[in-house]
Amino acid sequence: MDSAVWDLGYLAAALLFILGLKKLGHPRTAPTGNLYGASGMLLAVIVTLARIESETGIIGWELIVGGLAVGTLIGAWMALRVEMTGMPEMVALFNGFGGGASALVALSEVLSRLDEGNIPEGIPLYATWIAIGLSGLVGWITLSGSLVAMMKLKGGFSLPGGKWVRFPTWGPPWLNTVKVLLLFACLGFIWLSIQEPTNEQWIYGLIACATLLGVLFVLPIGGADMPVVVSLLNSLSGIAAAFTGFVLMNNVLIIAGSMVGAAGLILTFIMCKAMNRELRDVLFKAFGGGSDRETVTRTKVGSDPDEVAMLCDGIAKCIIVPGYGMAVSQCQHQVREFAEILEGRDCEVKYGIHPVAGRMPGHMNVLLAEANVPYEQLVELENINSEFTETDVVLVVGANDTVNPAARSDEGPLAGMPILDVDKARVVVMVKRSLSVGYAGVDNDLFYEDSTMMLFGDGKEMMMRLVQAMQEL
Ligand code: NDP
Repeated sequence: MDSAVWDLGYLAAALLFILGLKKLGHPRTAPTGNLYGASGMLLAVIVTLARIESETGIIGWELIVGGLAVGTLIGAWMALRVEMTGMPEMVALFNGFGGGASALVALSEVLSRLDEGNIPEGIPLYATWIAIGLSGLVGWITLSGSLVAMMKLKGGFSLPGGKWVRFPTWGPPWLNTVKVLLLFACLGFIWLSIQEPTNEQWIYGLIACATLLGVLFVLPIGGADMPVVVSLLNSLSGIAAAFTGFVLMNNVLIIAGSMVGAAGLILTFIMCKAMNRELRDVLFKAFGGGSDRETVTRTKVGSDPDEVAMLCDGIAKCIIVPGYGMAVSQCQHQVREFAEILEGRDCEVKYGIHPVAGRMPGHMNVLLAEANVPYEQLVELENINSEFTETDVVLVVGANDTVNPAARSDEGPLAGMPILDVDKARVVVMVKRSLSVGYAGVDNDLFYEDSTMMLFGDGKEMMMRLVQAMQEL
């Protein structure tokens, strides 16, 4: 068949990707965007298989169909099993799989070329080996880095005996030198593989150094800076796929990979802005390093839902600030019910959304959309902060780092991160189980303020009791 037919198929797939990405820009159109993207990917797979079948004949349909079946089963099983709170780890794992897939394709391409003695010469050798090398370099970094990121998001791993080991955040000052040396070693191996294309050892050297570089790249990043690294790894998985597209001379892979790479990079810079950090500082200064969780020694007497309900009776304005604890307890529906009761009593209700609240970008938006909270009520940090001074009650549901005034100081893992200025409101009600720290491991002075009431307990249980108390008033 004419190659123009395949190009048309790829063009249609690319159009679906672009339209999908555009629709992902708004929560209301995001499900359609997802559908467009998935349809584009299906079309790209079908066109690729049909093209290969027509040009060279596919050797081993069994392997392709078997692989698709196994992949579909594992994917469906993981998606059905995952808790909403486990999504960030799953996203990190999928980033890693994306990078790993690109790296393996590059490896198989180089090995099969060596096997067949199909080694180009001159410029084509440079072009192919550089594409293979860069695909491997970025792919292995993404795979090992994402696995470390996944374990950091999880907090650690359990040993065979069931003992829980916390994943360390480790970054001595000399580590940056080691990382730079490893990067040069990787580039050196790519160069050597071009000089001596038949020597597989250079490829294995590249794999070892790139894998170690991925681990050392993520290991020092801790505290609250993980969102930046997760979105950067997402971008790297796309860049690796784009390089693999050059290896295979596959246009749609180059387009899709570049789009993921660019979108991930834009998200990385948005996250950096949200954290008030320079990307190079996150990558090389390791702000979060050494944030061993502090032991809380202070105490605070808790309030009860009846007391909070009485306080909320007759107020004019309430801002709800959700955080990771809302995702853990899945209390978004009760939060919406609480808001509706207040609105029924002529109280203005808004939601203050911090860009890094929860454990993945847009985490709170997804949960609140699921509970049918009107999108117009969700207000981002830079727009809501001026409103706290005129707010009667701020209800903080399972947020901690994103409202921690310690971020206003120059020290510690949160230093400089913009926060929601909830402490400027008349009263702050915090729903959480204890006085313990958030993800960055920094104690929160807000809990001990006179104007702060603590509602100790699981988010869902506390919100249910609060809703009931409001209804009984
Ligand atoms: P935090 O992680 O700072 O705090 C969450 C709080 O929720 C905890 O202090 C915990 O307190 C409470 N909590 C946990 N379970 C429950 C429950 N069942 N019911 C009620 N409360 C509960 O959350 P924030 O959203 O404020 O901040 C997010 C943090 O995660 C930031 O540091 C951010 O940088 C980081 N991060 C964000 C990512 C993103 O992309 N958004 C990715 C990776 C990290 P207690 O135990 O007392 O209940």
